[in-house]
Amino acid sequence: DTIGGNLARTVAAHPDRDALVDRASGLRLTYAEFGAEVQRVALGLLDLGVVQGDRVGLWSPNRSEWVLVQYATARIGAVLVNINPAYRTHELEYVLNQAGVSVLVAAPSFKTSDYAGMIERVRGKCPDLREAVLFDGPAWDALLAAGDGGDPGRLAGIEATLSPDDPVNIQYTSGTTGFPKGATLSHHNILNNGFSVGELLGYTEADRVCIPVPFYHCFGMVMGNLAATTHGACMVIPGPGFDPATALDAVQAERCTSLYGVPAMFIAELALPDFDSYDLSTLRTGIMAGSPCPVEVMRQVIDRMGMAEVSICYGMTETSPVSTQTRTDDSVERRVSTVGRVGPHLEVKVVDPDSGVTVPRGTPGELCTRGYSVMLGYWNEPDRTAEVIDAGRWMHTGDLAVMDHDGYVGITGRIKDMVIRGGENVYPREVEEVLYTHPDLLDAQVIGVPDHRYGEELMVWVRMRDGAEPLTADALRAFCEGRIAHYKIPRYVHVVDEFPMTVTGKVRKVEMREEAVRLLD
Ligand code: ATP
Ligand code: MG
Repeated sequence: DTIGGNLARTVAAHPDRDALVDRASGLRLTYAEFGAEVQRVALGLLDLGVVQGDRVGLWSPNRSEWVLVQYATARIGAVLVNINPAYRTHELEYVLNQAGVSVLVAAPSFKTSDYAGMIERVRGKCPDLREAVLFDGPAWDALLAAGDGGDPGRLAGIEATLSPDDPVNIQYTSGTTGFPKGATLSHHNILNNGFSVGELLGYTEADRVCIPVPFYHCFGMVMGNLAATTHGACMVIPGPGFDPATALDAVQAERCTSLYGVPAMFIAELALPDFDSYDLSTLRTGIMAGSPCPVEVMRQVIDRMGMAEVSICYGMTETSPVSTQTRTDDSVERRVSTVGRVGPHLEVKVVDPDSGVTVPRGTPGELCTRGYSVMLGYWNEPDRTAEVIDAGRWMHTGDLAVMDHDGYVGITGRIKDMVIRGGENVYPREVEEVLYTHPDLLDAQVIGVPDHRYGEELMVWVRMRDGAEPLTADALRAFCEGRIAHYKIPRYVHVVDEFPMTVTGKVRKVEMREEAVRLLD
């Protein structure tokens, strides 16, 4: 099915159920109203001259209009290009040109970012960009007005020609390991993934899903919006950015049954001084994803937030995104130590990265995914696509994983981060876990640096707790002795205030390695 076709089915089945609540603006739409608003925006975009296959950029924090544009572009066969709200001018320019965006829909500003100003600055350098439509401004009002006067018959005619295999979305990766890559995803890719995620969470039209994670990323757009609309559930937008109190306010006021977040968001919510005063009794489930979750946090999410059925998901932008997921009846232990089992209608395997041969269970190797969720390819980059999708249509994730005898997958790090020191493989994650137990350390990140004797040596970047003395290489060695094998103890220590981070909150080890080479020079 197409995303528009699926939405029409939900609207017909649940016209009077809530579809969308935007807490910041106060807007509430039933599915009948949501369907009508999506149609209005779709007709407005047609009036702007957007045709099938055109790329429409969307640059805005979470708000109701984001969701309307998401579904409207799908209905007219346009390709939505999600633009990260934290981008600056040079990143905006890159994405607009790389994807060939002709119409850009944007919020005028967000926090300290002046989107309108940045768009004006890049306009002259983006030859494909014809129109910029700002929310809350005359161009958006004109688009809506044109939508009111549009011809639904024309839209129906266009929809009849769309195929589920058409591209519907270009999602840029987080840029953790390099410059972001634009994954081209079809209706088939993301609609099925959203549906599957919702199925495994047991969503029905009675569910109300609180989505504080960004829509521009598949976590919000697919695992949130599409999981909800494929089941007639309600999307609750707590606010434009993340704020722990605002998220819990939304759960309480809207009687949400499901809450999403990366581990850091749950940690912030649990740490609110008045946490116990919130009535979260309606919460049943939710998703934690993006990075590994500490055991204690998982226990508190289950016990104190009441999310007994919370699920851990693993995936990547290139696979729409979810590949493995814990099930509601998995043990807490499994929900902490693994990312669950493969999702329905998908395959995963763990291979030796050099030979490509599947390794025995329990042996680390590269995780590969195959099935309906694998992207069409990187937008306009066939060479990079060929590097990650092999002839058998397996997506090579670049993640290191171990699969146990019951099919549960554990993520142990990224191949690009693995260090080979004197012929021995060292997984930074293993060393970091040991360093996390050091009382003076707030955080530790291990990288490999070139070494003429061992090929690579280990370096650790550390952030000290307030008031702690900077860690020396000798003190580190003394601490690690007996805790990990000799060859895994970092030789160099570098004390920093902050690590270089991506906008999605991941540490950029590429940048650390570049800097380390300069430091050692
Ligand atoms: P880039 O590909 O640009 O370097 P990225 O890989 O961080 O950036 P995303 O597609 O947003 O971009 O993130 C996918 C990656 O996030 C996965 O490949 C994996 O490394 C990590 N990841 C996702 N979910 C989990 C999880 N539950 N536990 C641990 N790591 C995870
Ligand atoms: Mg990646």
